[in-house]
Amino acid sequence: MKDTQDGFTNLIGGEWVTAGATRANINPSDTSDVIGQYASAEATAVDAAVDAAKAALPAWAEASPQLRHDILDAVGSELLARKDEIGHLLAREEGKILAEAIGETTRAGQVFKFFAGEALRVAGDLQPSVRPGIDVAVTREPVGIVGLITPWNFPIAIPAWKTAPALAYGNCVILKPADLTPGCAHVIAEALHRHGCPPGVFNLVMGRGSTVGEAMVTHPDIDAISFTGSVATGHRIAETCGRLRKKVQLEMGGKNPMVVLDDADLSVAVPACLNGTFFSTGQRCTASSRLIVTEGIHDAFVDELTRQMQALTVGDARDPATQIGPVVDAKQLQSNLDYVALARQEGAEVMGGDRLDLNKDGFYQSPALFLGTTNDMRINREEIFGPCGSVIKVTDFDAALAVANDTEFGLSAGICTTSLKHASAFRRRSQVGMVMVNLPTAGVDYHVPFGGRKGSSYGAREQGRYAVEFYTAVKTAYIAAG
Ligand code: NAP
Repeated sequence: MKDTQDGFTNLIGGEWVTAGATRANINPSDTSDVIGQYASAEATAVDAAVDAAKAALPAWAEASPQLRHDILDAVGSELLARKDEIGHLLAREEGKILAEAIGETTRAGQVFKFFAGEALRVAGDLQPSVRPGIDVAVTREPVGIVGLITPWNFPIAIPAWKTAPALAYGNCVILKPADLTPGCAHVIAEALHRHGCPPGVFNLVMGRGSTVGEAMVTHPDIDAISFTGSVATGHRIAETCGRLRKKVQLEMGGKNPMVVLDDADLSVAVPACLNGTFFSTGQRCTASSRLIVTEGIHDAFVDELTRQMQALTVGDARDPATQIGPVVDAKQLQSNLDYVALARQEGAEVMGGDRLDLNKDGFYQSPALFLGTTNDMRINREEIFGPCGSVIKVTDFDAALAVANDTEFGLSAGICTTSLKHASAFRRRSQVGMVMVNLPTAGVDYHVPFGGRKGSSYGAREQGRYAVEFYTAVKTAYIAAG
């Protein structure tokens, strides 16, 4: 809750509590614009949240699914009704342009409504035993207390797609949003609180990953951790969870390939690559960062993509004319610029990628295209997470597929082609969790599974009906007539 004296506080056990310290939430489009002071908690706040969740769990785990449905449905309705206002906040704290920010808020509302319905559809199996006179019942129960750790780049959608299923299936939640973008998670907390989520069932603990996040991962009474973020943090969390035998789910980075074949329709391929590579300032785990293009279409594709890229308007995320907002902060901007310099060192021809001074203190960069690259370059192995894409020229479909799969990541992969044969082969042979045909690698639905393979993901899938796997424990009961 916003208190003029304390700023935006944590929600623990149904109470809005200060954390001692606060952190300024800064607008990356204009760093003189401070959105507010947000709590920055210590590890003791996690202990308090776990105590509150433990007290709330027995009643919530056995609560009527109607109650869970009604709360989640009301939160979903509120997010949808307030999508413009919340989208504005999202644009202000993360730098996503207004249309994308409102779209992300809409998606968060839809996610809550989807899982409101799922709360009423927790099905089990009843089947005969192989032994006469015995029934076998397979049922699902809540996992218990789940810790949700989220990144800055989807500050409302990711907290929503973890929180909603966790609550729908009867778990108690401790959410730690990214320190850079706590505002949207705070909106979710306020809505849950206002719509009657019982004290302790949902707790918001804002603060640093190295304190709050670490305390959640190591806390003996948190049963499961769902994490989205970088590979380095994910690996660290997985090791700790393995040692403590906690259930864990990781969604991490990507180096997503987009293949463009000679037979592609340029009017489809260029917008798909433009969107996938540069929209949301390239700050999407599903961004198309490697454009793998066959020889016959390469020059025409590069000419048109470069022309459209150079016409993109970079600016303040809240200006309706802006197509590419700022980078999220100074550290990420410097990292992007270092990769642009690396691209030159590695022998790529670099179009764009300059630091922009738009007469305001924001973190602006022009989109960058790296031409004449090969898949072994560091710019094509490491996730950049900025508005930067590489073009890799290949001879044919087989070479394109081999390059697409030659990466430690496996989140999303796309192909632009008019050949059903190649589209089908690509769908079957891509070593990823999500395949797009004649669509950007980014941009997914809320009601179907999301996630990857290889170094991109670990554990059960998120979203859609598949979310039940992570947020429930299966019980098998054998029942004989007494
Ligand atoms: P990050 O630095 O790993 O942070 C993610 C979250 O983990 C933040 O809340 C962070 O806290 C917290 N954290 C940091 N250190 C921790 C620790 N030792 N223990 C527990 N928690 C800790 O990632 P990011 O920079 O926010 O996000 C960008 C990354 O997310 C990219 O690699 C991107 O690909 C990935 N991503 C993946 C998906 C997907 O679904 N696959 C979706 C979106 C983003 P702080 O707030 O203090 O940093």
